[in-house]
Amino acid sequence: MTDCIFCKIVEGKIPSRKVYEDGDMLAFHDINPQAPVHFMIVPKRHIDSLATCQDSDATVLGRMFAMVGRLASQQGATDGFRTIVNTGRVGRQDVYHLHIHILGGKEPLGRMLPREDS
Ligand code: AMP
Ligand code: ZN
Repeated sequence: MTDCIFCKIVEGKIPSRKVYEDGDMLAFHDINPQAPVHFMIVPKRHIDSLATCQDSDATVLGRMFAMVGRLASQQGATDGFRTIVNTGRVGRQDVYHLHIHILGGKEPLGRMLPREDS
């Protein structure tokens, strides 16, 4: 997709710190990490969001989730991690190219959702 920042990262037109790549997906570090370990996995083929994905996306989505544990462990999240897929306006999705955030570190993360919004 022409104006999609993650498509540009997949195509190498915008640089990223790569964690993993194969024919279906790319994993790279978040530019604004929210935890000691924070990277994302995206499908190489553009999919807007979980709200709009189709049955035909199931294989790549399954492969992405199946990779998460291995990559998290390689990145140092050896005792658990959190996966987040922000979706749409209410989910505060900023980049409309489906991505799984993987967050972790040595210590437990904060609560899943803060009690008060900011
Ligand atoms: P979301 O709010 O779930 O759509 O998350 C988008 C994420 O993309 C944010 O955590 C950003 O920090 C991250 N991000 C935006 N631009 C880049 C970039 N060029 N390289 C790496 N991460 C990025
Ligand atoms: Zn895209």
